[in-house]
Amino acid sequence: MNNAELRIKELVKLLNKYAHEYYTLDNPSVEDAEYDKLYRELVELEEKNPELVQNDSPSHRTGDLVLSKFEKYQHQYQLYSLQDAFSREEIEEFDARVRKVIPNPEYICELKIDGLSLSLVYENGVLITAATRGDGSIGENITEQVKRIKDVPLVLPQEIDITVRGEAYMPRKSFDKLNIERELDGEAPFANPRNAAAGTLRQLDTKVVAKRNLATFLYQEASPATHDTQEKVLEYFEELGFVVNQDRIFARSIDEIWSFIDKVADMRGKLPYDIDGVVIKVNSLAQQEELGFTVKAPKWAIAYKFPAELAETEILSVDWTV
Ligand code: NAD
Repeated sequence: MNNAELRIKELVKLLNKYAHEYYTLDNPSVEDAEYDKLYRELVELEEKNPELVQNDSPSHRTGDLVLSKFEKYQHQYQLYSLQDAFSREEIEEFDARVRKVIPNPEYICELKIDGLSLSLVYENGVLITAATRGDGSIGENITEQVKRIKDVPLVLPQEIDITVRGEAYMPRKSFDKLNIERELDGEAPFANPRNAAAGTLRQLDTKVVAKRNLATFLYQEASPATHDTQEKVLEYFEELGFVVNQDRIFARSIDEIWSFIDKVADMRGKLPYDIDGVVIKVNSLAQQEELGFTVKAPKWAIAYKFPAELAETEILSVDWTV
């Protein structure tokens, strides 16, 4: 084995271990920035040595396996991850790739909520299933847990069949309160609101979910489109009673995108919930369809990730069964 092959194998093993801790156990042992750095190294090595790509490479997978304590749920519509960008240059590269197919795109820029993906399935306007993303095809059925999130409508004002995607998160206030209570009870505090939200939704005791005050933002229609732009979908979601994040803009140039990113970076600390970046999406759904998907992510969107904040809390081992 040459050096590249050895390193690829080592990175795949390490990253799969971290992904399992993060997605399945809600208990990461390294910071996201460390994971992102190693992931980048792997992708670069794979690009240079395509013949060495491993079958179980995380670059081909979304998330991780589902926990056996939950019923599995086969998604009707695949859930994807997002391509990452860490610099203005990478957003420029994304824009250039889009422009090869769509000469004059209009983008919509949204906050990247740092929670966990949810898929909500409504039939005749009634919530029948809520599931985690899992590996994108199979998630965990967490319907009873999600019904305890107060802002999720159980019944819509229209008797429609619709599948929507969004993010469940724990507001900072609820997170601080929860960690104080845990410390008083002699339990290990949660590492961050994202892990606290993920751990909460995996509680078999739904009373615990009700007590912990999770919230949601919905951002995507997964079932066939009822509208022709992302913005109209978001407006429709509001009519249906979903919570939609209001901090979004349209952009037609990198300068406009970048000044939104700057603004969001400034207000980030003042938001009542955690975000880890800005998602830039092509607004037209017909153009999104034209651009399509890679195995893992849409080609019509990119997530700009903010540089890592210094960790405030030491990551501790948490017993999720409590
Ligand atoms: P991601 O979190 O980088 O981005 C995709 C997700 O963003 C979507 O699935 C969706 O849930 C979410 N999202 C939030 N707001 C959105 C919006 N407005 N529009 C669309 N999507 C929105 O991708 P991922 O695959 O969930 O996770 C990868 C990241 O997880 C890594 O970059 C790393 O930071 C972290 N991770 C950390 C560890 C660790 O050990 N610390 C392990 C694995 C992954």
